[in-house]
Amino acid sequence: MENMPAFRLHRPETAAEAVRLKTSDARSRYLAGGTDMIVNVRRGIEAPETMIDLTAIAAITEISEISGGDGGLRIGAGVKLSDLAAHADLRRDYPAITQAAASVAGPTHRRYGTIGGNLCLDTRCLFYNQSQWWRESNNFCLKHKGDVCHVAPGGKRCFAAFSGDVAPAMLVYGAEVDLKGPNGARTIPLVDLYRDDGMDHLALEADELLVSIRLPKPVAGTVSGYEKSRIRGSIDFPLAGCAVRVTMDDGKVADIAIALTAVNPSPHIVTGLDDFVGRPLDDDALDKIREMVRSQAKPMLTTTVRPWYRRRVVGALARRLTAKLAGA
Ligand SMILES: Cc1cc2nc3c(=O)[nH]c(=O)nc-3n(C[C@H](O)[C@H](O)[C@H](O)COP(=O)(O)OP(=O)(O)OC[C@H]3O[C@@H](n4cnc5c(N)ncnc54)[C@H](O)[C@@H]3O)c2cc1C
Ligand code: SF4
Repeated sequence: MENMPAFRLHRPETAAEAVRLKTSDARSRYLAGGTDMIVNVRRGIEAPETMIDLTAIAAITEISEISGGDGGLRIGAGVKLSDLAAHADLRRDYPAITQAAASVAGPTHRRYGTIGGNLCLDTRCLFYNQSQWWRESNNFCLKHKGDVCHVAPGGKRCFAAFSGDVAPAMLVYGAEVDLKGPNGARTIPLVDLYRDDGMDHLALEADELLVSIRLPKPVAGTVSGYEKSRIRGSIDFPLAGCAVRVTMDDGKVADIAIALTAVNPSPHIVTGLDDFVGRPLDDDALDKIREMVRSQAKPMLTTTVRPWYRRRVVGALARRLTAKLAGA
């Protein structure tokens, strides 16, 4: 790790002021809990001259009910992961989200880390999340300062994996995100926040701030869960992670959604699951789900663990979790 370099710090109290400050300085970066950003600064990956600390913006630290329409919950981007994991309404209605939040890093990280930072987390790779001297001695790589990808040397693509735990759990609920930028505010589906490009995986416009997340109210009887595989049993990013949401009706699937993390450059919603609607989740269906998940996961050699193993594991996680939820 390098010493912490000098930088200018702003601490705005409104989202509008944060956007204004960001727009006025091309080399500035947003800083929430800092549990990823500060590590990257000390590794020489990020070198912002100015950081815009979001922790004094009270309006983005609340979880509230959405009034009118079909209801649901709005979660401020500044909500800490520990508060998200402990929230009673979320635990009851969106268990995949609280389980995913509770599985991030360790208790101290979760007390600082925010849901906004978790959804905007940089992609990760064995050749990227290293100290300055380590990366320099390998001539850096395409994602930062270099001109070769050490994972797929022949190409010009980066396969660094999005490895946030909470995004897949929000994706299975069809979450939307409220964004605020210099050109105004907009709301987009969370799935559209991501691009399948490890180098540039967020579809945020320049200086855009993630303000809040909207979760639609789930249909009665919906169950969900999140499971991850990691090297250490605690304080570790997922090698593969899987969220499942399912609604059963009279022993048959009424609705099902599965989303993956850490196996693609963006969190991935598994496609083709509509085929299971109206069918029981018997062994044949569960095996097919496992194989669909395996075929859509595209892990590369971005961790110390081999891609074929992560592909097998993510299929097994999906099968096991779906079986457990369907039997619940
Ligand atoms: C040892 C260790 C283990 C970890 N394990 C895990 C793990 O298991 N799972 C996991 O998911 N994460 C893990 N993390 C990463 C991190 O702790 C969490 O993802 C955390 O939620 C990041 O949130 P933050 O508020 O600290 O983000 P920050 O570090 O402050 O920011 C992260 C990025 O998001 C941007 N950003 C933050 N807020 C906003 C916003 N509102 N709008 C736009 N951009 C924004 C920042 O500019 C930055 O690029 C780990 C980190 C460490 C150090
Ligand atoms: S996938 Fe390639 S370009 Fe991307 S971070 Fe890893 S080594 Fe670098």
